[in-house]
Amino acid sequence: MEITKRKKEQKYRTSKKNIKENFIEHLNLSLGKDFSNATLWDKYHALALLVKDRVVEKWLKTQKKYYETTDVKRVYYLSIEFLIGRLLYNNLLNLQIDEEVKKAMKDLNLSLEEIAEAEPDAGLGNGGLGRLAACFLDSIATLGLPGYGYGIRYDYGIFKQVIKDGFQIELPDDWLKNGNPWEIERKDRTVKVKFFGRSESYKDEDGNIRFKWVDTFDVLAVPYDTPIIGYGNNVANTLRLWSAKALNEFDFNNFQKGNYIKSAESNAIASAISKVLYPNDAFYSGRELRLKQEYFFVSASLQDIIRRFKKQFGNQFDLFPKRNVIQLNDTHPALAIPELMRILVDEEHLPWEKAWDITIKTFAYTNHTVMPEALEKWEVHLFERLLPRHLEILYEINARFLDNAKKIFNGNIEKIRNVSIFEEGNVKQVRMANLSIVGSFSINGVSKLHTEILKKNVFKDFYEIWPEKFNNKTNGITQRRWLLQCNPGLSKIINETIGSEWITNLDYLKNLEKFADDKSFLDKFYEVKQNNKIRLSRYIEKELDIKVDPESIFDVQVKRLHEYKRQLLNVMHIIYIYQRLKENPNLDIYPRTFIFGAKAAPGYRMAKLIIKLINSVANVVNNDKDIKDKIKVIFIPNYNVSLAEIIIPAANVSEQISTAGKEASGTGNMKFALNGALTIGTLDGANIEIKECVGDENIFIFGLTAEQVSKLKESRLYNPYDIYLRNEHIRNILDAINNSFFEKNNPDLFKDIFQSLLFGINGSQADEYMLLADFDSYKTRHKEIDLTYRNKYTWNKKALLNVARVGIFSSDRTIREYAEDIWKVKKI
Ligand SMILES: *Cc1c(COP(=O)(O)O)cnc(C)c1O
Repeated sequence: MEITKRKKEQKYRTSKKNIKENFIEHLNLSLGKDFSNATLWDKYHALALLVKDRVVEKWLKTQKKYYETTDVKRVYYLSIEFLIGRLLYNNLLNLQIDEEVKKAMKDLNLSLEEIAEAEPDAGLGNGGLGRLAACFLDSIATLGLPGYGYGIRYDYGIFKQVIKDGFQIELPDDWLKNGNPWEIERKDRTVKVKFFGRSESYKDEDGNIRFKWVDTFDVLAVPYDTPIIGYGNNVANTLRLWSAKALNEFDFNNFQKGNYIKSAESNAIASAISKVLYPNDAFYSGRELRLKQEYFFVSASLQDIIRRFKKQFGNQFDLFPKRNVIQLNDTHPALAIPELMRILVDEEHLPWEKAWDITIKTFAYTNHTVMPEALEKWEVHLFERLLPRHLEILYEINARFLDNAKKIFNGNIEKIRNVSIFEEGNVKQVRMANLSIVGSFSINGVSKLHTEILKKNVFKDFYEIWPEKFNNKTNGITQRRWLLQCNPGLSKIINETIGSEWITNLDYLKNLEKFADDKSFLDKFYEVKQNNKIRLSRYIEKELDIKVDPESIFDVQVKRLHEYKRQLLNVMHIIYIYQRLKENPNLDIYPRTFIFGAKAAPGYRMAKLIIKLINSVANVVNNDKDIKDKIKVIFIPNYNVSLAEIIIPAANVSEQISTAGKEASGTGNMKFALNGALTIGTLDGANIEIKECVGDENIFIFGLTAEQVSKLKESRLYNPYDIYLRNEHIRNILDAINNSFFEKNNPDLFKDIFQSLLFGINGSQADEYMLLADFDSYKTRHKEIDLTYRNKYTWNKKALLNVARVGIFSSDRTIREYAEDIWKVKKI
């Protein structure tokens, strides 16, 4: 009786009728608007609120269930970035009410698509690392695991990029200005985070020497929760983001002394901590505010985790690692290690050895890069000022660890120096990667190759000590956002052909292989791609006022701009084609549209110069009548998650061309393959595993291997200037760049690019990223792409086999592996 009543109610809640009623109710009662005077934002807001009602019901039930389950083990994912994008459509799909809502809106003469566009992107991340965290949240909830994301609620996310005269300009991303309907402020869970001060020792009643951290400057951390809903399973987990606030809006000590302005100052200092995301991708810059951000969210999160643990298990800290596991997304949250030690030793008064045992059974660390400029190292001076007690704890951790290491290494000084948490030198520094390895029971890389490089090169001395700690977890992407949501056309024909099981089990796409020679299916498959290309062409025409031909090959490179990702190699190839066409306007090439999207870190000069070069080349190529529109070059500004959702489904060719050994995994590569683009790529990161899955004949691999790159570098035989002299094509390309052929009124503009490729710049090696070494094989593969595309069925068969064979790159698979091998957490 009860059950049928609840079911009826449930059904009613998801009916078109109820959705319409609730929508109007929210417009009227929550927002105080009439239907007739509601703005697009109001409509979006009302729809989001009605969705949130349905999410929160499930959220409360899920959280209650977790609390009532006594043997629950929780996983905490600590990440300084979550690149979520929009949530409305994602939540509608995961709740499986998208169809009813679409119909309800239609009845009200509204378009769901248009309303969804009103939502700003939650851009609380730079690129791959932050997007991975967002995909993981989706998979953790869909697998029904008791998981929590912890991070920072930045007032300003990744900057908005506009292009002016071909140059990148950064504008602030004020994503919260109209409010955020998805979040729930939890003032009651506010905690205090301490900074500065000093460490003081004292004797307790039993005569033990203890330490406390005193005279601190305290800041409030206020949590904001966003429920993360699983697909069709009634599970809703929590993403808890911390916002910094002053202890007192006005510091009354100063206020009473008559210092009105000074009293407001501490407020500004406090709230600065969660003001803005650092816009560097894979680059470390040792700024004090960044260290504050890291400690701020780590300390708040650990206090929250321990509060939740104590509520259920009291002071039974022996149980802590059995009930909790904390995954560190890169080294940014590594301060959690000394912070947990401080809490257990200084506040809970556990013996050091006991506390350390608990700590190393709790943490697991994911490494994301082997590039030296990305590895975090903090000056000891800064550490000492900001976190004096943590520095003492680090010295103790390191001393004990090195005692052991000395024995294992038989006193080999170099090895001991390599593994130390401290780097000696002019300025003594704390190495966050070493800290993360010493303090964790698991260290994982994010693709097979990357994990091998960690074990053999970057962390080989650690691998000698603890081979069992190292493991691989190849990255993945959620098919809910990266196929179901962004490519409704493809999803539809897949569902009609093999059913919809793939939405929660991506391996099911294997069943599409049967249709690889089915011309009527390939026709439909081709048509879907064409429609996606038309959708992107419309966007390009509307935003950039450039017409592109949807019949041309869409050749796409979208990702952060980095020298190692080699957008410049792509540009060199475009210049090469352009020069061939100028020589012979009747050259037989298949029309191609080269599409770029990339943000450069605001302080990264060379990256910004490459953006300008892309735009200059685009300007010349697109306006040259001689080449008869055979090629076009498009730079789409402000690449973000929502743009990725339009661009990727429209791609024929996916450019994954990093210098081998540099891209830890890549996840863009997986999104493209899943949406039926063919990859042109190096044997780097997950490209290698994509090749193994799709087959050599369905991917265009080129260039040196990681091993060849490192051998060539070690041999010091690599001489790009020789290549320049010998290779006429390369010479013509580089000369055109150097002579400013593409920017005639600014003759010196691109000289640094030429300089950097041939001679090195500011101490860098000549052609550090080996573009000239790989150019010829790159251009050969591109020629094959041109020829292959001409045969529609050949091409579409390859593209379909990519879709069918990349199921393994679902983040559901990745999370299942984390859960089984590292976390030991189970579905409730
Ligand atoms: C997936 C994604 C990335 C990562 O792309 P890579 O090609 O793996 O570097 C970066 N930014 C956005 C917006 C993404 O969606």
